[in-house]
Amino acid sequence: MARLNTQVGIVGAGPAGLLLAHLLHLNGIDSVVIENRSREHVIDRVRAGVLEQGTVDLLVAMGVGDGALRRGLRHEGLYISFKGRRHRIDMAELTGGKAITVYGQNEVVKDLIDARAATGRRLYFEAAHVSVDGLDASQPIIRFEHDGTDHELGCDFIAGCDGFHGICRPSIPDGALTVYERIYPFGWLGLLVEAAPSSDELVYTHHERGFALFSMRSPAVTRLYFQVPPDEPIQHWSDAAIWDELLARMTTSDGWKPNIGRIVQKSVTPMRSFVATPMRHARLFLAGDAAHIVPPTGAKGLNLAASDVLVLARALKAFYEHRREEWLDEYSDVCLRRVWKAQRFSWWMTSTLHHSPDGSAFDHQRQIADLDYLTSSRAAMTSLAEQYVGLPADVSLDSVGL
Ligand SMILES: Cc1cc2nc3c(=O)[nH]c(=O)nc-3n(C[C@H](O)[C@H](O)[C@H](O)COP(=O)(O)OP(=O)(O)OC[C@H]3O[C@@H](n4cnc5c(N)ncnc54)[C@H](O)[C@@H]3O)c2cc1C
Repeated sequence: MARLNTQVGIVGAGPAGLLLAHLLHLNGIDSVVIENRSREHVIDRVRAGVLEQGTVDLLVAMGVGDGALRRGLRHEGLYISFKGRRHRIDMAELTGGKAITVYGQNEVVKDLIDARAATGRRLYFEAAHVSVDGLDASQPIIRFEHDGTDHELGCDFIAGCDGFHGICRPSIPDGALTVYERIYPFGWLGLLVEAAPSSDELVYTHHERGFALFSMRSPAVTRLYFQVPPDEPIQHWSDAAIWDELLARMTTSDGWKPNIGRIVQKSVTPMRSFVATPMRHARLFLAGDAAHIVPPTGAKGLNLAASDVLVLARALKAFYEHRREEWLDEYSDVCLRRVWKAQRFSWWMTSTLHHSPDGSAFDHQRQIADLDYLTSSRAAMTSLAEQYVGLPADVSLDSVGL
């Protein structure tokens, strides 16, 4: 048995865990990150790709933003397509110059793992049988097995950054959490395609056959999604059937359509909205997907993980520097204000753009009116733009020493 100690034990090396680890490092706070998958698996996982302006600003201020700035694709607008026509929303013009950056989550994670390695602080991949214990005690413990040796890590605090299926949230005693949840009657079939993007900006398509989204990962790789039933077996979709469906939904009356290429990855993701409150139990703090999930239509998941850990890092810094606990006490409330606004936005984007299997002809006409209003009213476009590029942070970069 190896016995270790640290100030903050972090479960999970996704965006939340790695960002928190580096923010703490920059403030001289020690942490140990424990991840149950391999380094390669964590880096190769294809997931989010849209970074809000504030997330890019955070990465840059932390000194880990070079990749996002150099290889990321800055988008100052996006398209909403319905009834066969694309309508551009100029986000930068409507928000005083803000934009989003398309930079794959796997790239963000790789940059952060490299940064962690350079600090010399501890990060365990392929940890088995991870569990947390003694959450109410002054020194909670994380247990795990690594390279055949049992480890016991004593911590001042534990950060549960282990995603929706992790072990931290289920370790909180029954009755301590309230869960709010909505399961949608559809999912997304997502594709990674070797083809140059045929649009410089994202295209969100409303179509009577169902929603579709055109996105990209690089000048040579297109990322496409389309709505399918939530439990759709991927083998039901041959490549030819996928292209037929995508072109039927996405082709606009001016002839715009995605470029066809080799499909290198495809998977189906069900969609849900989920919030567990409070995001703290005693000495355990939940952050990112461990505490909340949004449907990906609003592109908020990774960005919420970043804003949670900014709030947590501020609180931990104040605790270690001044023994102040009020920001630890406020952690959940501060995060949840932003989380619920992102939930509302993600739900609105989802319900406005998708074809609901139990929706009526009235619902369809209401969606069209919603989209017509959105693309013809400056006020409506401004509202979408300011939420899409990211609402202002509740916590300043100064407060975490950046
Ligand atoms: C298939 C998929 C597609 C997505 N697409 C988009 C998108 O297009 N746009 C968008 O904004 N968001 C998307 N998301 C959401 C986005 O990826 C997440 O919001 C983001 O990854 C949250 O980061 P996180 O660090 O909180 O959680 P995660 O990225 O889930 O990281 C959690 C980490 O904890 C590890 N872990 C889990 N259990 C344990 C354990 N017991 N012990 C130790 N480690 C553990 C996991 O291996 C993982 O590395 C997608 C999510 C999924 C699942």
